[in-house]
Amino acid sequence: ITISEQLKQTVDKFPNSDALVVPYQNYKATYKEFWEQVEEVAKGILSYGVKKGDRVGIWSPNRYEWVLVQFATARIGVILVNVNPAYKSAELKYALKQSETSLLIMSKGFRQTNYLDILNEVRGECIHLKSIIVIDHDWQSLLDAAKKVSSKQLVELEKTLQFDEAINIQYTSGTTGFPKGATLSHHNIINNGYFIGQRLKYTEKDRVCIPVPLYHCFGMVLANLACITHGACMVLTGEAFVPETVLQTVQNEKCTSLYGVPLMFIAELNDPNFDKYDYSSLRTGIMAGASCPESTMKAVREKMNMREVGICYGMTETSPVSTQTFVDDNEYRRCATVGMVHPHIEIKIINPETGAIVTRGERGEFCTRGYSVMLKYWNNPEATASVIDEGRWMHTGDLAEMDESGYVKIVGRIKDLIIRGGENISPFEIEEFLHQHDAIKDIQVIGVPSAKYGEEVMAWVIMKNGDKISGEDLQAYCKGQIATFKIPKYWKFVEEFPTTVTGKVRKVEMREISAKELG
Ligand code: ATP
Ligand code: MG
Repeated sequence: ITISEQLKQTVDKFPNSDALVVPYQNYKATYKEFWEQVEEVAKGILSYGVKKGDRVGIWSPNRYEWVLVQFATARIGVILVNVNPAYKSAELKYALKQSETSLLIMSKGFRQTNYLDILNEVRGECIHLKSIIVIDHDWQSLLDAAKKVSSKQLVELEKTLQFDEAINIQYTSGTTGFPKGATLSHHNIINNGYFIGQRLKYTEKDRVCIPVPLYHCFGMVLANLACITHGACMVLTGEAFVPETVLQTVQNEKCTSLYGVPLMFIAELNDPNFDKYDYSSLRTGIMAGASCPESTMKAVREKMNMREVGICYGMTETSPVSTQTFVDDNEYRRCATVGMVHPHIEIKIINPETGAIVTRGERGEFCTRGYSVMLKYWNNPEATASVIDEGRWMHTGDLAEMDESGYVKIVGRIKDLIIRGGENISPFEIEEFLHQHDAIKDIQVIGVPSAKYGEEVMAWVIMKNGDKISGEDLQAYCKGQIATFKIPKYWKFVEEFPTTVTGKVRKVEMREISAKELG
């Protein structure tokens, strides 16, 4: 099935249910209205001379136009290139050139004070880029231009679409290095959205609060495609992430589900006005994108009424979700694992050196195969071949273990493993342990160079408001609780961690900073 066909089915089933609500833009549309608006935008884009298979970029923070463009491009078989709104000129140029984008739809954006300068600079160098639509100024002309294209033309084009054609280039988060353009088909992402919503038991009564960026698969697939495959409503919370606004939106829009990376939930729980809002409408939600501390999962369940909250694990290259918890899982499975394999895909955990499947409970590299694996990295056959093997297994680079009943735990990234004096240390375990300390708001553990051991363990810590504690105190707390060689030698107290715009901690940057500071 194509995204277009799926959306039409939902529109026919639930024409009068809310499809999209964006309070900060005073925007609201039912599925029927949404379909009509998507059609206008699709025609508008066609009027720019764009053809099936061409790349159209979107460089904008969350707003309703983003969602319309997502489905409009899907209806005309144009490949949408999601560009991170926080990109500056060099990164923007890279994405537009690399994907040979011919039309860019953008808004002034929340961090782009000098977007016109950036644009002028980029324009000269991107030879494929023919037109730019600035949402803030040109949206109406786009809709006016739609009149030049007939509905018949659109319907004829829709008939030519195939489910396995590329529809989307999503750049990975850039946690480990420069983002790569995962190229995804209708089939890849619409199915993934369907299975995600199914496991959350979404119906047309659900209203999903979406503070995560739409340009990332967390917003675009886990949220938008899970909603439209089940008739649920998408609710956006703002152009930038403001914890209190999210809490307010949950209350005012009576959301039943709330999404976030762990850092977002931690910020919401610690918001000084947290107690002011009513969370009784919430039922479920997803925490994902990075390892989810058990204590945060429990707090979300107990304090935000998210009884059926769950965790997803996945990566952009796999559409993205491979494993997910169930709404009726017990507390351990729900909070401490990333759940079980999704329907219609396979997973295995292997020894990265030998490729052999490890025994249950043992650690190894998480690999997956099936409909969800991306078509390729855009224009990068070497990179594609380095992650997808001849058997079509995607090698994720993530370390995982699976228990007897099939529940999976992600225990870090192979590259983040700390090797101290020949001993492999997983930062994840130390982070999980220290998260239980009352004064610690958040913690990240990294390896730093050491002449004696090759690497030493270092912790970066964010304390809760007003709490003062020393590295020695924390070392004493660890003593007798975790193995001595795992106790961090160095401690750094900070206000925040360096992150990607999706809210993922950039350990690469932390390692660089600390290596320099320690000399
Ligand atoms: P890049 O590939 O550019 O370095 P990235 O890997 O962060 O960036 P994404 O595709 O956004 O880009 O993120 C996927 C990664 O996020 C996974 O490979 C995994 O390491 C991590 N991840 C996602 N969900 C979870 C989870 N529930 N628990 C632990 N880690 C997770
Ligand atoms: Mg990655």
